[in-house]
Amino acid sequence: MTSFKFIVNEIEGIYQIKIDVPFAVKYVCLFLFKLNGKNILIDSGLNMGNWKKKLFSAFEELNISIQDIDYCIITHLHTDHIGLVRLLKQKNPNLKILMHDITHELLKWETCDENLKDLEQQARKIANQLIKYGISEDQGDRIVQFFAYWPKFLQYQKPDITIHDGDVIFDRLEIIWTPGHSFDHICIFDKKKRYLFSGDHILSRITPHIGNFVVPNYLAEKYKDYDFNNILKHYLTSLDKIDNLNPKIIFPAHQEIIYNPHERILQIKEHHKNRLAEISSVIKDNPMTAYKVSQIHFGEDLDEMNSYMALSEVLGHLLYLQAQNKVKIIEKNGKFLYYS
Ligand SMILES: [Zn+2]
Repeated sequence: MTSFKFIVNEIEGIYQIKIDVPFAVKYVCLFLFKLNGKNILIDSGLNMGNWKKKLFSAFEELNISIQDIDYCIITHLHTDHIGLVRLLKQKNPNLKILMHDITHELLKWETCDENLKDLEQQARKIANQLIKYGISEDQGDRIVQFFAYWPKFLQYQKPDITIHDGDVIFDRLEIIWTPGHSFDHICIFDKKKRYLFSGDHILSRITPHIGNFVVPNYLAEKYKDYDFNNILKHYLTSLDKIDNLNPKIIFPAHQEIIYNPHERILQIKEHHKNRLAEISSVIKDNPMTAYKVSQIHFGEDLDEMNSYMALSEVLGHLLYLQAQNKVKIIEKNGKFLYYS
């Protein structure tokens, strides 16, 4: 057991609160700063274990009480970012919660018990699709269980302010919708200082996982121009959106502060370009399922969760190539085989 509790850093007037998590990313960072006399918190942290105790100890070390925090902006629906939002609001009813329209819709849907059946049905649709992409029926069942399990770490909290792409709040914080890592993901850009709070969109050492969780029909209908099949394209477009803002410093929710945003964005784009090339060469005149490609690429010894992540990563690339007519598909025994 490590004794890692929490670390508080100050970078250019921004407090970084770093708390460990039992995931591969090792820790989650929240950011706290003052703007126009108001205290603004980016993300709310994880609702698991003694995380909340650590968060309140960090506030104490910063000599700030939850009562002093005026706004909390959520970057996306994942449990390590939105988990404690309800608790923070309960501790300070004057705290205003801001989240993107999609984040709110998904949170509302996933946390309502009456929707469990609908959620399982949507998960089943995804699982059936993944079976065609090569996983077994058993793995499909476990994916349905997984999707039904995660919302248990979420609690509903109605936002005080719903935000949208392009909104500018507090005169200078611009909301940038950056779908890719998740459908609802946003970054927050301080136009004056050119600081970017990137959530999970841009990280310093790893390329973020790209994918979608389950989405209810009515939301897919509301965003019907959004192509749910080509997530990598959305992700790359979202990277360009950020690059065009020319941020000076990126404050990501995991790993290190990024002082060379443009170079980091180029590296991530390069990584995807290489992966597209690698996948194309693996399936050159050699038809196989997406799952098989992921096993060749990431190995066969992965645990369930990581093998699902590996598959969705490969699938993101294959569907991107498919949209560009750079791969062909044949169907054999109910499975899709890709080749180039
Ligand atoms: Zn995330």
